[in-house]
Amino acid sequence: MRVLITGASGFLGSHLCDRFLADGHEVVGLDNFITGNAENIAHLTGHQSFSFVRHDISSYTYVAGSLDGVLHFASPASPIDYLKHPIPTLKVGALGTHNALGLAKAKGARFFLASTSEVYGDPLVHPQPESYWGNVNPVGPRSVYDEAKRFAEAITMAYHRFHGMDTRIVRIFNTYGPRMRPHDGRVVSNFIVQALRGEPLTLYGDGSQTRSFCYVSDEVEGIYRLFMNGDSAPTNIGNPVEYTVRQLAEMVLEATGSSAAIEHRPLPTDDPRVRRPDITRARELLGWEPSVDIRAGIALTVAYFRAHLAAAAPAPAPAS
Ligand code: UDP
Repeated sequence: MRVLITGASGFLGSHLCDRFLADGHEVVGLDNFITGNAENIAHLTGHQSFSFVRHDISSYTYVAGSLDGVLHFASPASPIDYLKHPIPTLKVGALGTHNALGLAKAKGARFFLASTSEVYGDPLVHPQPESYWGNVNPVGPRSVYDEAKRFAEAITMAYHRFHGMDTRIVRIFNTYGPRMRPHDGRVVSNFIVQALRGEPLTLYGDGSQTRSFCYVSDEVEGIYRLFMNGDSAPTNIGNPVEYTVRQLAEMVLEATGSSAAIEHRPLPTDDPRVRRPDITRARELLGWEPSVDIRAGIALTVAYFRAHLAAAAPAPAPAS
């Protein structure tokens, strides 16, 4: 297959490029680097099955040659990123999805949308099955991401129903692992970087809110199977083991051996109280479930950040 992956230099996009290439497919990566990182795909430079286009999918997009798949992964995805880039976030969810769908339609390609557990908002049903419609504040600060992704799902289903296109929608739950940026702002990378630097871990609110963290290799395997063998209905891909954010802080301190303090900060507006995927559908449809335990996943992520921060650290000042 020859596939286009938007957001190719991002955290998930770059792992997805690797997954397709490992199976012998050809990948065209596209990114405008608004939150992506060229380092994530530097190892693919010169790969005979990989090419890259620097472009914003929110403006008209043309890609030469045939395509069998278009996977739309471009978007700021961390709360601090989409609060910093509210309009580009709305545009890439709306106009970017429209352009990616139009391109897929013109090429006769399968379309795959990276959606999110944020479509469930601050959920009133727990855990969240795909049939739950969500509890989203349409005008709050997070709405630039949540509502853009809800629109993206709606337009994907419209292209599926109206144009008969072959489409997929994955709802991605909190995912972590190597290639997250140190200043990404998400909780796993924040805590690990803070612990490694001996800085206080910033716990928002009282830390009793929950998330269910999926290691990146599990997430990418689920996405790949959904692309290959799934159907058009939205599918949750995430790890159903739930922790409080305080428990996560403690696990990070244990994994890093850090004695950093935990410091409380205000809970961001509309921060969901709980989040946990119901993955019955993914299990039945794809025979998929996560296999990496959180402690093993944290250890792998700590190893990545240790190496990354050491490489990025300024050279020590010469002794006088
Ligand atoms: N959080 C935290 N400290 C941080 C960053 C995040 O306590 O330094 C909390 C945040 O308020 C939320 C959870 O951790 O309850 C997950 O936040 P993240 O930004 O990773 O993703 P979200 O699930 O909110 O999109």
